[in-house]
Amino acid sequence: MTLEEVEHMIAVVGERPYRARQILHWLYARGAESFDEMRDLPSTLRQYLKQNFKLGSEALSFVSRSTDGTRKILIRLADGEEIESVIIPTQDRVTLCMSSQVGCALACEFCATARMGLHRNLAAAEMLSQIYSARRELAAGEELTNFVFMGMGEPLANYPRLIRTLTIMTSEWGMNISPRRITVSTVGLVPMMEQLLSEIPVNLAVSLHATTNQLRDRLAPINKRYPLEVLLDACANLPMKRRARITFEYVMLAGVNDSIADARRLVKLLAPMRAKVNLIFYNPLDDSPLETSPRAAVEAFQAILRNGNLTATIRESRGLDIAAACGQLYAEQHSPAAI
Ligand code: SAH
Repeated sequence: MTLEEVEHMIAVVGERPYRARQILHWLYARGAESFDEMRDLPSTLRQYLKQNFKLGSEALSFVSRSTDGTRKILIRLADGEEIESVIIPTQDRVTLCMSSQVGCALACEFCATARMGLHRNLAAAEMLSQIYSARRELAAGEELTNFVFMGMGEPLANYPRLIRTLTIMTSEWGMNISPRRITVSTVGLVPMMEQLLSEIPVNLAVSLHATTNQLRDRLAPINKRYPLEVLLDACANLPMKRRARITFEYVMLAGVNDSIADARRLVKLLAPMRAKVNLIFYNPLDDSPLETSPRAAVEAFQAILRNGNLTATIRESRGLDIAAACGQLYAEQHSPAAI
């Protein structure tokens, strides 16, 4: 719930207004797991809350641990659907990769989640549950520092609930996380991109993957609705803070989008805006004919981008051994016996 909603509820039961912030502090700052813990509330109010509200996050069903420190959390939702989130520790940060939908409707050719189709949107509470579940998995002294909506689903296709989630994450009465530590990744739902940045100044990552409409139509079919020129024109004109940059994700597919000509076209396409490019090794899916570009090809591609004055980084794959790497999240209903 948001501050406004809790304030309204408090007014209805005739409690003092400041109780609303007290309750939210217990929920979002302290991570209380029961109303009984909220000792500074009058017992009548605690009783009322217990009888009328549900507190707590979804049951965490299974954790896989990679040899590189990455951990994948499988969360079982109340209706039996399952989602995955990934904790990714690196030298100076611990990133949580969050899901926004069960499955996805956008049908990108190279993505495992796409093969599930869309089962349903996640509620804000379910998105936030991933943070609570992840926090329970952290080692002593470990703390989540960054949050990326790069798990299952297309966050901008679940827009109202995404905004609700981000509001609770970033508000001072909520989790009080700086929007600069949050990245929303999208395949390019143009109208929602513009709206998002006008509402909450998070970082935006756009999954580009191709430099021609012909290829992008195939890899990311949403391109037929928002073709490259429309997408990039919108990117160049987004309401962004000075010095903020859009990240463009580019999955490197051998012989498909990794040529020198592709790199040169990418430089031209991104020249009009403040951009950085994140090159991603393709993580192969079981029965897919696609292959990842060899490291030398990725580095040659990166060099051309850099010569063209673009910032270009290579995303090192994490959690490959536990199918937690980019594009590998696929949670089918597991039978209870299997987990
Ligand atoms: N729907 C959003 C966020 C989820 S995907 C989006 O499309 O951006 C997060 C990133 O993983 C995207 O850049 C996506 O293109 C990439 N990805 C998907 N499948 C992949 C795969 N098999 N290997 C590497 N990256 C992949």
